[in-house]
Amino acid sequence: MHATGPQHLSVIGDALIEVDDAGVIVDVRSLGPADGDEVACDVRLKPGTMLMPGFVDTHLHAPQWPQLGSGLDLPLERWLHELTFPLEARFANVGLAATVYNDMVPELLSLGTTSVVYHSSVHREATLVLADACVRHGQRALVGRVAMDHPDATPEWYRDCDAASAVASSAGSIDDIMALGSSRVAPIITPRFIPACTDETLAGLGRLAAETDVIVQTHCSESDWQHGAVFERFGVTDTMALDGFGLLRDHTVLAHATHLTADDADRIIEVGSGVAHCPMSNSYFANAVFPARRHIAAGMRVGLGTDVAGGPSPSIAEQVAHAVTVSRMLHDGVDPGGASGRDAASISMTTAFWMATLGGADLAGLPVGVFKRGRHFDAIVVDEPTAISGVDGLTAEVRLERIIRSLVRSRPRRVWVDGVDVTPHR
Ligand SMILES: [Zn+2]
Repeated sequence: MHATGPQHLSVIGDALIEVDDAGVIVDVRSLGPADGDEVACDVRLKPGTMLMPGFVDTHLHAPQWPQLGSGLDLPLERWLHELTFPLEARFANVGLAATVYNDMVPELLSLGTTSVVYHSSVHREATLVLADACVRHGQRALVGRVAMDHPDATPEWYRDCDAASAVASSAGSIDDIMALGSSRVAPIITPRFIPACTDETLAGLGRLAAETDVIVQTHCSESDWQHGAVFERFGVTDTMALDGFGLLRDHTVLAHATHLTADDADRIIEVGSGVAHCPMSNSYFANAVFPARRHIAAGMRVGLGTDVAGGPSPSIAEQVAHAVTVSRMLHDGVDPGGASGRDAASISMTTAFWMATLGGADLAGLPVGVFKRGRHFDAIVVDEPTAISGVDGLTAEVRLERIIRSLVRSRPRRVWVDGVDVTPHR
């Protein structure tokens, strides 16, 4: 089962998927009666199981793993300063980083997350530890050392000391990660968000992106506070300010982006950037629902993100379910005495699943997310819930929804990245 587009869910019956030694899919076809029992397979899945593309998490803060599910009754600015920055600052300790990241990466794989776009901390050493953990456990990843140096929005004890050092450390971290020599783990340039960075740092990272062609991620128009702070500083929206600094590029991953104007959305589509839609985190911090349906229909690249730990669940299956929920609230409205919702805002389970797989992969420029010749074989196999396996006549979308909801309670049976079995042994 895979989503080949935002509206296209497909189940290939009795499929044979051939993968080469590099993990690239070379053939996908349905077996006919003529094939008989002659086909020799390395892996043959049992009836009642379903193979799906592995999940792509397009926004996750690795050093926030220990605070999963904490402080979600606070507004964003207080949550950052009271809980998050003090925790992230502790990742100056490389031993702590190794302990946390070697716990987190296998846990994410066990939930079916085969690719992650990570925010690390400001620390170059801990960022390399994170990249190394991904290599060791076999997860595909983009790993970004966080740049943040603005004295007004970051504490003195947790920031780059100046712009020169912010840009040099980001460049150094790119070199560190490239030196691992992994085909699956790559760097990503990561200004935390505009309020946390000086103009010099933003401009320097824009130049670094142009020089290296390394893709960029950041937060964009996440809340009334962030959106307002950028407008007050530059007199333009977050999107346009990022564009001015050369940070809005092909495959730039913008987290949240709940407060985009029509011009912002047009510009994001034009340059090939896109949005990491974090429906659960947005419900706590973003002060708005991201109108996924409208932006996807207009051609925007959109993936799903857990935003650990702004989002309290590391499960992309939970984000798929929640993306549908919040889209229905946007559609129908949430205030019985107030304005009603927006028409045509709700999305289908297929669209949410597409964002979690192919949509996210295309956003971050990863060659996965769909079972198609030329794509890499990152996949999970799940048990179809017993209530439906063996029942004929169910639509693919009903089967998908049952599987997604069962994945909130259980885990995939097996997980592959690049054709290699990376199922954590627990
Ligand atoms: Zn975030």
